[in-house]
Amino acid sequence: METLNIVGGGMAGSEAAWQAAEAGIPVTIHEMRPHVGTFAHRTGSLAEMVCSNSFRSDDDEQNAVGLLHWEMRAANGLIMAMADRHRLPAGGALAVDRDPFAAAVTERLKSHRNITVQTTEIESLPNSGHWIVATGPLTSGALADAIRAQTGADALAFFDAIAPIVHFDSIDMDRAWMQSRYDKGATEAERTAYINCPLDRDTYEAFIDALLAADTTEFHEGETADYFDGCLPIEVMAERGRETLRHGPMKPVGLTDPHAPDVKPHAVVQLRRDNALGTLYNIVGFQTKMKYGAQADVLRMIPGLQNARFARLGGIHRNTFLNSPTLLDENLRLRSQPSIRFAGQITGVEGYVESAAMGLLAGRLAAADLRGHALPSVPRTTATGALVHHITGGADAKTFQPMNVNFGLFPPVDLKGGRRNRPARYKAYTDRAKADWTTWLEAATVPA
Ligand code: FAD
Repeated sequence: METLNIVGGGMAGSEAAWQAAEAGIPVTIHEMRPHVGTFAHRTGSLAEMVCSNSFRSDDDEQNAVGLLHWEMRAANGLIMAMADRHRLPAGGALAVDRDPFAAAVTERLKSHRNITVQTTEIESLPNSGHWIVATGPLTSGALADAIRAQTGADALAFFDAIAPIVHFDSIDMDRAWMQSRYDKGATEAERTAYINCPLDRDTYEAFIDALLAADTTEFHEGETADYFDGCLPIEVMAERGRETLRHGPMKPVGLTDPHAPDVKPHAVVQLRRDNALGTLYNIVGFQTKMKYGAQADVLRMIPGLQNARFARLGGIHRNTFLNSPTLLDENLRLRSQPSIRFAGQITGVEGYVESAAMGLLAGRLAAADLRGHALPSVPRTTATGALVHHITGGADAKTFQPMNVNFGLFPPVDLKGGRRNRPARYKAYTDRAKADWTTWLEAATVPA
């Protein structure tokens, strides 16, 4: 049996190795630490948690990340099993005792009969054999250059400049309206591509005051701020002059508010459709370093967003990730070289749990390939399937930004009896996902 090579022994690489090894495939993990470090990792352990020690909500009925926990547990996931073993009290969240957790993952992988761990930095993309690249947000420079050379300079980003993303059903359309600037766009999809929120002079001035007063996060040591030319945070734009935003992302031109056609707005915030389902919209040009609490408060000052629920808040930080919608197929293979898969945060998912989930999927898919089986597609109704579909096709490639799992990525549920309350809707999502994931796992299990 051919060996599966995995580059990177973080959340994704560790889970991928475990899944493939458990399916009887010989696996070599190539991990550069501790010989070569990153600014965020401290140890040579596999699956090191670089920052917070939380896997977020463990509620598998009302929360999409809790559902992802459930799916990974059902699929014999190593990361979840070790997280459960080293769980710390944290209410409804799954907090993890990070050092014993990483030590346990490392021990389980190193003692597995099918797994070898080598301490090597991989500096180029291999052109033979079966590979999973799971080198994460801090992929080493040499490998990042090699990936860039293979995929094209624009297809690998080094910074996340994330504009906040809002659930469509939380936008007040009695105050906001749909319109493309200068009514550009012939098709229904183009006409529903933008939502506009109007601000009068007083609201704009109050918004600028709040922006200037909001707490912001600092860069981590080793991160550089060379993003500044391309995508200034909105609070930095506001510091440059109170009118700057009105002449930039908040310019009120080419738009007419149907709720007040005779009043010209002083400024307009635009949101752009973020997924094919039309359930998510991102706030155009609103990348920010505001802290999360302050950010939500400031953004809810925008008329139409007063009750906004955020699928993710904005941020700017070092993050190496592919333009997956153009580069990867739904099996996480590089379209231009299908013997190479990608997994983890480098595919454009965000977070420990999402990264491990993409590792789980990549490991299973690679193991099936090596055994000559083709697995059925993962249903989009599951958390794993919704995520992989989003990054490999559902998201708009032009504005692609890393994504946490959230219910906005799922095909809507058809609730009989009309619109029900949110808990009923979320329960319907999770019930459907669990049934479909169970069916998929049965069909996708390849005998070792
Ligand atoms: P990683 O876990 O980073 O694993 C990648 C591995 O690849 C690393 O071990 C690295 O050493 C190795 N590697 C890199 N290049 C090479 C190479 N060329 N050859 C061999 N090995 C290589 N997520 C959260 O959920 N919560 C947080 O609080 C959080 N905070 C973060 C803070 C910072 C500063 C950063 C950078 C990220 C943070 N993240 C956080 C995101 C988090 O890193 C990811 O969610 C998760 O660790 C990604 O898993 P991964 O397996 O894709 O990458």
